[in-house]
Amino acid sequence: LMHLTRKLIEIRTMLLSIDQSDSLKLPSIVVIGSQSSGKSSVLEAIVGHEFLPKGNNMVTRRPIELTLIHTPANEGGEEYGEFPALGLGKITDFSNIQRVLTDLNLAVPASEAVSNEPIDLRIYSPRVPDLTLIDLPGYIQISSMDQPESLKDKIAGLCERYIREPNIILAVCAADVDLANSPALRASRKVDPLGLRTIGVITKMDLVPPEQGATILSGNRYPLHLGYVGVVCKPPGKQPKKESTAMVATRAELEYFSGNREHFGSGQLMVGTDTLRRRLMEVLESSMASSLHGITNAVQLELEEAQYQFKVQYNDRRISAESYVAEIVDTLKGRVRECAAQFRRPAVRARLKALLDERALGILEQLYWSDRRAPELSQLAADGRVRPEDVEPYWRYKLEAAASLLTKSGVGRDATLLVADGLRGLIEAIATGEPFTHHPRTAERLVQFAHGILRERVGITSDQVENCIKPYKYEVEVEPREWEAGRAEAVELYERELEMCEGKLKEIRKRIGGSRRLNSLVSYVHSLEEKERERKQRRLAAPDGEPPEPTADLNGDDYRYPPAQILDARHAMLYGERLNILKLRLSALKSKRCKGGPENDVLCPEAFLEVVTDKLAYTSAMFINIELLEHFFYQFPREIDSRLLYDLDRREIIEFARENPEIRRHLDLQERKDKLEEVMKQLNSLATLRPDVQPNARRQ
Ligand code: GDP
Repeated sequence: LMHLTRKLIEIRTMLLSIDQSDSLKLPSIVVIGSQSSGKSSVLEAIVGHEFLPKGNNMVTRRPIELTLIHTPANEGGEEYGEFPALGLGKITDFSNIQRVLTDLNLAVPASEAVSNEPIDLRIYSPRVPDLTLIDLPGYIQISSMDQPESLKDKIAGLCERYIREPNIILAVCAADVDLANSPALRASRKVDPLGLRTIGVITKMDLVPPEQGATILSGNRYPLHLGYVGVVCKPPGKQPKKESTAMVATRAELEYFSGNREHFGSGQLMVGTDTLRRRLMEVLESSMASSLHGITNAVQLELEEAQYQFKVQYNDRRISAESYVAEIVDTLKGRVRECAAQFRRPAVRARLKALLDERALGILEQLYWSDRRAPELSQLAADGRVRPEDVEPYWRYKLEAAASLLTKSGVGRDATLLVADGLRGLIEAIATGEPFTHHPRTAERLVQFAHGILRERVGITSDQVENCIKPYKYEVEVEPREWEAGRAEAVELYERELEMCEGKLKEIRKRIGGSRRLNSLVSYVHSLEEKERERKQRRLAAPDGEPPEPTADLNGDDYRYPPAQILDARHAMLYGERLNILKLRLSALKSKRCKGGPENDVLCPEAFLEVVTDKLAYTSAMFINIELLEHFFYQFPREIDSRLLYDLDRREIIEFARENPEIRRHLDLQERKDKLEEVMKQLNSLATLRPDVQPNARRQ
């Protein structure tokens, strides 16, 4: 029989970890009583050790789920306590248990005073029976100054929750207080009027005359089906130092009841802690046994539901936190590989080329297009008779200036940063996408790793690139084949630019309402500009001190056109000018002269600059690949391996996996199903322990 209770206590603990719903609860003994009724003394007498918090101020602030586990003396009979939730290991010194409990209680904020969250404490000892007891805060009569007014209700509410079915109520009352005034009995009567599951414990029997004590225990006035047990848990007078309190208490109790044998020795009354212990075992065991049938059915129902849900929702697919983590690492590495593919050398070169082309266009605009003599150069190319060496040195200097502007524009740094930014962007995109949306801290770390590697490499890489393009700053040798390629690229570049300008002009024309209107706007703007020029000249010629004429608003002081349209007209004029020059240059680039080869570089600066940008892009891409990309794509996956997930311990892995709500639900259901299956197995095995108990009766 002992074995059954122990098994059921195990099952009860498992059920508690599945959920807190009442349908899945096996009974426990709930200890209630008013403050100072001797509740702690009784519990300590049962355990045989002093281990509960002491003090005047109410010290039990959280329920204590006390599980007693009998360790047979012939199997070593170890005696220790354990707080499973705290991971403190075996505590053999009971005063340490007392300290931990005190700390846990004091950790409840004073403003709350009482917390609903139970403390799980297990005590292993050869002197205890297999029992589960729940110690609750004592009822208080009056709220003191420093206790909130609502405290009384709060405690009462907490006790009420625990004394529900199927729990057994241990109502602790002091013999020297009228039972009519016992809050414990009053509370129990509300939920268990016949006392079918209430045991009365009358403490401090030594404080009332024995005949009065015996009358109380007979239970005639307030009958309880399970009866009353009388105890003496506190030794009268001083305790000798070398004896433990519990031992002294036991002896005092023994002395008291045997000294008053004429009142208590009839065998009708239950007295003494030993009797109480035995009574509790019997009551718990029979209560558990009678709950067994119901609980088995409830577990079976829950299990079927969980199995069904698991099948329907997850098709019986099992997962683990570890497999999830491994999957994430795989996904992540896959993404990084995809990302590496986007950073192959030709792709990088094309991006750098685009950057440099942009820059070359800027230089051409600055040095050539805005030069009034630009048409001359185009004419020279079209002419075809001029030999390159006869061209004015002016144009040679220009070309050298252009090449120098391009090669000395900080290509090393800009090209490296362009690629680094691209990498950063990609990693950020990975980190902000699924499944990392559920793992913000991990995403953050990913980005940090990427930044860390880039920080380390960017400086080195840009120096290296700058170093390797250095020769081009002094001289660029051009092969005929390179020249032809450069020329073709320049033509393409200009054609694109041309198209862009035409597109913009078209947009403006459409906005303004046709080309005729645009033309009249443009001539109006011309006339405005003309007027402004004259005015400026006059002002310059005027003698000092004469007040200047008020200047008319260039944007149309006569409001003939809205300012936005005037602005459009100005832009149209600029695009028009650019179109002209682009067309001129295009025809030059397509001329025989330009096609003639690299010796015509002065006449075709565009082709020459294209060759330069090609060379710069090629060299930069090569060294960025070696110095930055190869390092990055080597190191980043290793960071993921070594620092992101594989250094997590089991608890952290579970925590990580559970950050994903989908995985959390899956794990929860799977765990619930597993636990229910295990409980069901245990319940079924009980049937072999006790043939009178048939857990599966419902299924017939
Ligand atoms: P709790 O507040 O209900 O936990 O009560 P305690 O167990 O702390 O006991 C309250 C007081 O009653 C303490 O001073 C105990 O020493 C005393 N006490 C407890 N049991 C007995 C008993 O059987 N006889 C006597 N004389 N005093 C007791």
